[in-house]
Order: sequence, then C-alpha cells, then structure tokens
Amino acid sequence: MSTAVSANTPESVESTAARGTAERPLRIAIIGSGPAGVYAADMLTKSEEVRDGLVLGIDLFDRYPAPYGLIRYGVAPDHPRIKGIVNALHKVLDRGDIRFFGNVDYGTDLSLEDLQTHYDAVIFATGAIKDADLNIPGIELDGSYGGADFVSWYDGHPDVPREWPLTAKEIAVIGNGNVALDVARVLSKHADDLLVTEIPDNVYAGLKESPVTDVHIFGRRGPAQVKFTPLELRELSHSRDVDIVLYEEDFDFDDASDEAVKTNNQIKTMVGTLTNWLVEQDDDAADPTTGASRRLHLHFLHNPVEITGEDGKVTGIKFERNELDGTGNARGTGEFIDYPVQAVYRSVGYFGSALPDVDFDHRRGVVTNDGGRVLGADGTQVPGVYATGWIKRGPVGLIGHTKGDALETITHLLADRTELPAAVVPAADAIGALLESRGVEFTSWEGWNELDAHEKALGAAATEAGPVARERVKVVSREEMVSVSRSAGVLR
Ligand SMILES: Cc1cc2nc3c(=O)[nH]c(=O)nc-3n(C[C@H](O)[C@H](O)[C@H](O)COP(=O)(O)OP(=O)(O)OC[C@H]3O[C@@H](n4cnc5c(N)ncnc54)[C@H](O)[C@@H]3O)c2cc1C
Repeated sequence: MSTAVSANTPESVESTAARGTAERPLRIAIIGSGPAGVYAADMLTKSEEVRDGLVLGIDLFDRYPAPYGLIRYGVAPDHPRIKGIVNALHKVLDRGDIRFFGNVDYGTDLSLEDLQTHYDAVIFATGAIKDADLNIPGIELDGSYGGADFVSWYDGHPDVPREWPLTAKEIAVIGNGNVALDVARVLSKHADDLLVTEIPDNVYAGLKESPVTDVHIFGRRGPAQVKFTPLELRELSHSRDVDIVLYEEDFDFDDASDEAVKTNNQIKTMVGTLTNWLVEQDDDAADPTTGASRRLHLHFLHNPVEITGEDGKVTGIKFERNELDGTGNARGTGEFIDYPVQAVYRSVGYFGSALPDVDFDHRRGVVTNDGGRVLGADGTQVPGVYATGWIKRGPVGLIGHTKGDALETITHLLADRTELPAAVVPAADAIGALLESRGVEFTSWEGWNELDAHEKALGAAATEAGPVARERVKVVSREEMVSVSRSAGVLR
C-alpha cells in the first residue's frame, strides 16, 4: 500500500504562521466516525468562522475500517430507511475536506498525548457499544445475554464471535426501549424475511436454525410509560407469521398515565396502538392468536427479580408484578410470576466505556464534560479536549439528536479557538507517518469506498445466486475488511 498522504493541508508548516490559515490550518482530531463525529466534522467545515476564512485540517479516526458507528453496528438490518442517513454522511466524507483514518484505536494505537502533539483540539465521539448492567441473581447463567452483544452479532461486528447460540424455544427480552424491540423482532422473525437485508451469511445461517416459538418482552412500568417510538412499535405487527400477544391485566393507567396520553402525542399514539392490538385479540378464545408459528408477547408491569436455572443454564425467569403508584412510577405488589424460558436478553440500555487519560463519569457512562468541553477530575476544563454524541450526553436518543450535540460542542470549540494549546507537530502528514512507524494498518476513505463496493458486489453475486435481491452482504472479519480497504492503496 502506498503511504503517501496527499493532504488537504500543506505538508510543511511554518511554526510561526498564524493558526487557522492555509499555511497553518487549525488541526482538529475527531475520535469516532459515528453520526456524532461526522456531524461535528461537517458542522465545523460549514461554520461561520470557516466562511469568514478560518482554515481547518480535520482528521476523523475510527477503530473500525468502516465508518458510521452504530448506524452500521447498531441499527437493525431490517431498517433500510436509515440508509438515507448513511448516504448523507457518505456525501460529507466524500467531499475530500475531511480525512478518514480507519482501523485506528484511541488508547491502543494513539494516546491523548499523541493527539495533543499533532492537533490543536481533539473531539471524542466514541459513542457506546456495551450493555448497561442488570444486577439480578442468575444474570451470569448460560443463556443469559446482553442485548447489545446480540445486536453486534447480527450486525456483523468484527470483534464478536461469529456463532450465536440460538437454541431456545422460549425467550425473555427485558426492556421497554427500541433496542429491546429490535432484539425481540430479529429473534422472532423468520430468517428468510431478513435475507433481503445486508445481514452477513453467518447471521442468516444462525437465525435459520433457530427453533424459537415465543419471545416475551417485559417492561417494569405500564403501557403509557414505554420508551419505544411509535414507528418501531407498529413495525412489530409487520413480521410475517408472528402473532402479537397482549395481556389485559397489564393495561393499567394511573393519573400520570392519563396525563401523558393527553399531553404527549407519541404516548397517545403508542397507547392507541397497544390498545387496538389488545381489542383485536379474540379475548374469549382459548388461544387469542391467529395460529402463527411464532408469537411475540408484550408484558407490562413486570419487574425482573431472578433468572432461574439448572446445571448452570437458564430455565426460567421470575418477576414481581408491579403496579403504578399514581406518578407513573411502579412499585412491587408482592405477587411473583415465573415464566419458563431457555434464554434471557437484557436490553436495559447501552453504557459508554471509559477512555484512557480522560475523566469519566461512571454513574452516567459519559466523559465528564460541560456542554461538550471535557473536564478533568478537579472539574476544570481540559484545554483543547471536547466530546460529542452518546459519550457526551449518554446513550439515549436517535441519530438526529446527535446533531444538536455536535452543534453545541463545535460552537464551544470555535469560541475557545484562540486559547487552544498549539499542536507541536501540526504537519498534516505527520500522523500517518507516526501510525506507519508503529505498524498500525490504518485505512483511508478510499479504502472504505473499496470495501463498500466489495460488499455491494457480494450483494450482487448473492442476488444472482439466490432467491432474493440483496443490495449488500457485510464483510465481518476485521482482517478481510482491512485487507480489502488497504488494497485501495491511497491516503489523501
Ligand atoms: C441497537 C441500536 C439500534 C438503533 N437504532 C436506531 C434507529 O433505528 N434510528 C435512529 O435514529 N437511531 C438508532 N439508534 C441510535 C443511534 O445509533 C445513536 O443515536 C447514534 O449512533 C449515536 O451516535 P454516536 O456517534 O454518538 O455514537 P456511535 O454511533 O456509537 O459511534 C461511535 C464511533 O466511535 C468509534 N470508537 C469508539 N471507541 C473508539 C476508540 N477508542 N478509538 C477509535 N474509535 C472509537 C466507534 O467505532 C464508532 O464508530 C440505535 C442505537 C442502538 C444501540
């Protein structure tokens, strides 16, 4: 591979040149090429300061050879409309004024000191990839899984095992947010109905073998307190040969619920959807379903207290029945219910991971910050270090919400720009040379385009060979991702 860096900024730098000029661009590193990182880069390039002549040199780093963060490794494969967002992010990075360095891990391949040596400012946009903990007895049993790990598997994440044990007939999914819906939907769908998506071959093969008949989703509070969004909830009813089952005794509404239905359109829509589904069920029949081969049960007011097992394996899950307390919160009733299940997926939220040399709020799972300005352990601002996206705000909200984060962070960075500590080695080609000297097999934007084209070609080949049209088949192995990417050869 050629290591030449034909940068968007000059290679030799007059150390005396003013920062933010063509001779000495203001150098900014962004760690993480998920939506938050790309939006931050894009907004910086479109800022008023840049329109007024400020020259920036922006480098975007990611630990994977592929950009887009959780859009690639979180969003469910059967959500193709999200691809529209990928197209917009692709256009930003394809313009040529932001460089992409893939397969570079902050903390392993580059330290904060390295970044501060080469850049005037650093923005962390490292998101979240792990499950929040659920501390109940039995959580360690074989058959008890983190929903985020399952998501990583079905989305073809390079660093997780290729095999996923799909042997359970009855499955519990704990959580009442959109990720719980994704996990339950993918578990209950027929694999053939996912074949049109970009799922990797090993995922299709794994899901195809699944003997699942019943997936139960459990929430601690009532139907008016769910954290789903209406579109994602309605989508449950679109799965072929999957019945939705609801339970009348779970439809409890307190004063706070009534108020939420009155004042919040989303809640009103979702309570309407759930109530309609309940009414449509034939309550009088012994079996309220249409006879589909798989069922997706939605339970409310269930607080998980223990995962039960035998010989180290999950055999069931115990809940305490909750009731609403008038304020929309739930309290236990002292009544316990057991469900026989062979697998439990906890999907009670994601949680950010601490980053080396950066103060971390372990309670919230975010980099300690004030409006995106990173703070040290003593609460004072760390000059030139910023955060955006889920690692700044916590792992909640949709892709669009990361735009607001990015705007706040870059506004603060640009306001601080004359005070930023100056990079010691600001030459644009220095960072590539450093990575090269460390033997880091970094990839480029051209490399991603090569990999993108390769995955689309695999999709075309699968379309020729198989029963359905496939736009893309994801490459899962990191080695293969890197080797295809580096075959593009050029770093600009
Ligand atoms: C399962 C799931 C499904 C979702 N579905 C939807 C949906 O359908 N619609 C929607 O709008 N939103 C959805 N979201 C929310 C959306 O994914 C997030 O709002 C968004 O991705 C957050 O963006 P981010 O850039 O902060 O983080 P991320 O998307 O997590 O991006 C962070 C990036 O940083 C990189 N990184 C992390 N650590 C390092 C390191 N040490 N060195 C280098 N790089 C690093 C990661 O590789 C990653 O590319 C979903 C989220 C999840 C978890």
